[in-house]
Amino acid sequence: MEDIVIIGGGPAGLSAALYTLRGGKATTVIARDGGALSRASGVENYFGAPGTPDGRALVEAGRRQVADLGGTLLEEEVTALEWQDTFRITTTARTLEAKSVILATGASRATLPIPGLKELEGRGVSWCAVCDAFFYRGKHVAVLGSGPYALHEAEVLLPVAAKVTLLANGGAVTADFPPEVEIVPGPVAGILGEDRVTGVALADGAQLPADGVFIALGSAGGVELARKLGLPIQDNKVVADAAMATMIPGLFAAGDCVSPIQQASVAVGQGAIAGLSALKYLRGLEK
Ligand SMILES: Cc1cc2nc3c(=O)[nH]c(=O)nc-3n(C[C@H](O)[C@H](O)[C@H](O)COP(=O)(O)OP(=O)(O)OC[C@H]3O[C@@H](n4cnc5c(N)ncnc54)[C@H](O)[C@@H]3O)c2cc1C
Repeated sequence: MEDIVIIGGGPAGLSAALYTLRGGKATTVIARDGGALSRASGVENYFGAPGTPDGRALVEAGRRQVADLGGTLLEEEVTALEWQDTFRITTTARTLEAKSVILATGASRATLPIPGLKELEGRGVSWCAVCDAFFYRGKHVAVLGSGPYALHEAEVLLPVAAKVTLLANGGAVTADFPPEVEIVPGPVAGILGEDRVTGVALADGAQLPADGVFIALGSAGGVELARKLGLPIQDNKVVADAAMATMIPGLFAAGDCVSPIQQASVAVGQGAIAGLSALKYLRGLEK
């Protein structure tokens, strides 16, 4: 059992790790890449870093600090997060158990501008297989996505639904889907239905009947992971209080997945608060 698992290796996650490690708690940071800051070619507004430091260099320096303190850095993608007194984190390579988790997954990506997707949300378009699979017992569902996260959603749906189709939407299929999942490689033109989803229109003119479409584009962000735990989401952000605590004991969130102000300084600050709050939580468990 890990003390603390941090999902996200950007400024928020790495900053949190500095505090949890210096507080004496074994900490694992899981990140599929360097996050938003590593894509910034020049950062001019970060305190104490004059000139235009390369964002990637800042993130690399943060990773080195975490490694020097004995933190474990895993380059993996988290596909599921479950909670039952403690946390179970599933990645593309392993399953971890942790007493406390900090979500620092950055801003959730925009959804695709596919006609019908927004309009039929909650009426056949779902963002959470664990939450909604039950409603599709014996029905035909489609999963929009093509990577490990889409595979996870398809695996949740397979035992329940009559048929699961993967809509790769022109993307490379990067996970090993079981043969029961039919893969439709071409682009999606729209989700069909008036009151409820009835099918999917493909760009080549074909139509696929479907009772539900599960969105699993890219990887699961903090919002998707929080939603699966039944946590409230507001304006596409994870809801956390001033201590960066969510409504689940031991689960904290920081940075762009929480804050409407998407800045490295805010992410670092919130990461520090989340790290300190996680330490306080763990010390409470020890009493
Ligand atoms: C091009 C660009 C330029 C910018 N310029 C500036 C600037 O000049 N000044 C400034 O202050 N801010 C700037 N920003 C904003 C700044 O980068 C962000 O506010 C900051 O990086 C947020 O930190 P974060 O840790 O919350 O998220 P991120 O840095 O986005 O990190 C998110 C982390 O979560 C990981 N992750 C997400 N989902 C999963 C998953 N399922 N499994 C495993 N890992 C996962 C990612 O791999 C990543 O490691 C810029 C952003 C961009 C894109």
